[in-house]
Amino acid sequence: MTPVDEVAPNVFCAAGTDVNVVILRDGDALTLIDGGYPGDVAAVEGAIRSLGHRPEDVQGMLLTHAHIDHMGAIVSFHERYGIPVFTDPTEVAHARREHLEQATAKDFLPMLHRHGVLPWLLRVARAGATRHLSVREPHAFPSEGPLDLPGAPVPVATHGHTSGHAAFHLPQHGVIVTGDALVTAHPLSKVRGPQLLPPVFDHGKTDTLAALDRLATLDARTLVPGHGPVLSVPISAAVDEARERAGGR
Ligand SMILES: [Zn+2]
Repeated sequence: MTPVDEVAPNVFCAAGTDVNVVILRDGDALTLIDGGYPGDVAAVEGAIRSLGHRPEDVQGMLLTHAHIDHMGAIVSFHERYGIPVFTDPTEVAHARREHLEQATAKDFLPMLHRHGVLPWLLRVARAGATRHLSVREPHAFPSEGPLDLPGAPVPVATHGHTSGHAAFHLPQHGVIVTGDALVTAHPLSKVRGPQLLPPVFDHGKTDTLAALDRLATLDARTLVPGHGPVLSVPISAAVDEARERAGGR
């Protein structure tokens, strides 16, 4: 059975291949935030079933951003069950793959000699990292939250990692789902703790710092990142730490 952590009442975090998936529950209905790699679909489905639910109980799915490691179960459930997918208005075209804002295998060639890069590449390739996925019919969510979905997530525009990246705030629980705007670990990073992703993953490095400023204004003490462990720390302190690590950027 896929392990699932309840990080706040009816807020669950499950793991795909070095990437996190978030499930919000309201009675019988669920919201899924991000969906792991294509190879993580069974793990996401297992996480939902371990909570006593079925994928069909998902009322709506949110993408923090349209990178392959966040799209797996989202695309699968969209195709299989017709569950609607919502993104930031700016991310809709990316989710449809009208363009691609993602590192490809050749971007990692100069890094291959570094410790851990090759095993990571092989692991994520097995999980479907080189597959071409798109969301057939993504919808833009309204830019002002809370959304009319189980768990009432509030989108927070955190453009930078991709042009339309969004985080999701759950003010009633003091939880912030940061996606890849702020992570706490990554196989290609030597450090653990709040940080930006290695720059190879980012579309625009200036905006990733502006996105941190936006996160720092929120009232949240539980940080659920796209990659790395969940942290119980005020978001403003996590942002300070990530800024410090970003140092010379
Ligand atoms: Zn990403």
